[in-house]
Amino acid sequence: MASRNIVYIREFDKFDSMGNSICRNTGCQNLVKYPFRKYCSKGCSKQFEKWYYHNFYWERVRSDIFKRDNYTCQICRKKYPYTYRKKFARSKRLECDHIIPRSLYKELGFRFDSLDNKIKTITEFLHSHDNLRTLCKECHKGVTKEYLQCPTDLYLKNKNLTHV
Ligand SMILES: [Zn+2]
Ligand SMILES: [Zn+2]
Repeated sequence: MASRNIVYIREFDKFDSMGNSICRNTGCQNLVKYPFRKYCSKGCSKQFEKWYYHNFYWERVRSDIFKRDNYTCQICRKKYPYTYRKKFARSKRLECDHIIPRSLYKELGFRFDSLDNKIKTITEFLHSHDNLRTLCKECHKGVTKEYLQCPTDLYLKNKNLTHV
């Protein structure tokens, strides 16, 4: 599973029964209006793009987590230097860890078979801020190794996760 752009923005394109483009913004049924190509207004364009990038664009999500955690590893508590590139925080030493590993999405009942399910899987699990934390490379290696050495069933049981 790719870690960036796992829901493409064009998947939100909408059309009426005549094939005319409808505004992408959630809940908006207005026709697309010039000069916008995908939206009815500047308000809808701003609102939708903000929602999309904060939820689906990995660089944006990761940057938000680094910032929330004050660029500090949540295990060893060391703070590391970071830089900003194109509005996204990045660091040579810091990584964004999924507290419950990404590969367990199926075991937790999440699916990727429709746009609605993709949105749910991403916003409630893969990119959920509750499931993400900042770790330094060394600590990240440690938790990944621990997870890989533990059988999935036992892992889910130990973490008290529902096995569906
Ligand atoms: Zn609109
Ligand atoms: Zn650390």
